[in-house]
Amino acid sequence: MTPINLDALVSSTLHGESISDAHAEQILLDPDIEILDLVNAAFHIRRVRWGKTVQVHILNNAANGKCPEDCSYCTQGKKSSVPIEEYSMKTSDEILEEARLAYENGAFRYCMVFSGRGPSAQRTTELARLVRQIKEKYPLEVCVSAGLLDDDKAETLAAAGLDRLNHNLNTSEEHYAEICTTHTYQDRINTLRAAKRNGIEMCSGLIAGMGEPASDLVEIAQTLRSLGAESIPVNFLLPFEGNDLVDPIGLTPEYCLRVLSMFRFVNPTAEIRIAAGREFHLRSLEPLALYPANSLFLEGYLNAKGAASNRTYQMIVDAGFEIVSDFSAAALIDQTVLPNVEQPVHVAGRSAVKTLDDLRPAR
Ligand code: SF4
Repeated sequence: MTPINLDALVSSTLHGESISDAHAEQILLDPDIEILDLVNAAFHIRRVRWGKTVQVHILNNAANGKCPEDCSYCTQGKKSSVPIEEYSMKTSDEILEEARLAYENGAFRYCMVFSGRGPSAQRTTELARLVRQIKEKYPLEVCVSAGLLDDDKAETLAAAGLDRLNHNLNTSEEHYAEICTTHTYQDRINTLRAAKRNGIEMCSGLIAGMGEPASDLVEIAQTLRSLGAESIPVNFLLPFEGNDLVDPIGLTPEYCLRVLSMFRFVNPTAEIRIAAGREFHLRSLEPLALYPANSLFLEGYLNAKGAASNRTYQMIVDAGFEIVSDFSAAALIDQTVLPNVEQPVHVAGRSAVKTLDDLRPAR
């Protein structure tokens, strides 16, 4: 491979030029690109839009499991036998109380996730009511992840003040049928376009480690750039015994940093989020992920346990970054709103599954 001049690549990226597929793939694969040089280069791009700030997102499994879809990486799909705590939609009171907990635990954005193919018209109305109530009560940005949506439903949610809609592409169009057969890549693109047309910010990401070639990750990054995704959660496949897709492939800590850095180069102004697998796959290199990425999830990932909140906040502060919150970093590190007891996030090489206490602290 011809050596990459990272300084020149940073400069052209900051001048608005797109990075080529070849260079993006080289970032993922070229062992001659030293990892510290790469994350430092990605940091130069991150710093222009985001400074040293870190936005914290907290997920709420508002409806968990019982999904008729067959996404092979997901613990909630019809083919999964992972022993998760299944329940249909939480009550409004429970969701609102959990919004309060999320706010007081330092969340910048509260993400409500509903399992299933997509919301009915009735559920969309309920979601819109919840979005209004949360926005009235707390200074939180609100995101909803509820499956496939059309323009009418997107319009209803937009009118309620929804800030963002999450719907991940997960993998490339070419490989989509290998990870899911009950809906298509195009269905997902259509949902994202409906959100965009109705003025809702787009949050859409990927899952690395499903056996995809590096070129697939580049294709997703470029597609999200062309769609104008404001937010990109970068997930690393978590190994759950009982899922179709159990064992992550090729996810060394260094490769995870390369993936995050490549997404930063391709999508220089997007919010790049360290999502599922942060603790599991980055391990001792986790703080370096803050150089390309400017946000992360706290308290785990849907049904996967995550590190204790105060340990994550301490990591952010120790690395010299600044938490975006109404609460001080010291207060967040010391806070007692939610359990801070460190729990294992993996056991015997498998991801630890959340308990009902993790999932429903306000029930
Ligand atoms: S990713 Fe969403 S649509 Fe797919 S199985 Fe899981 S909950 Fe269902």
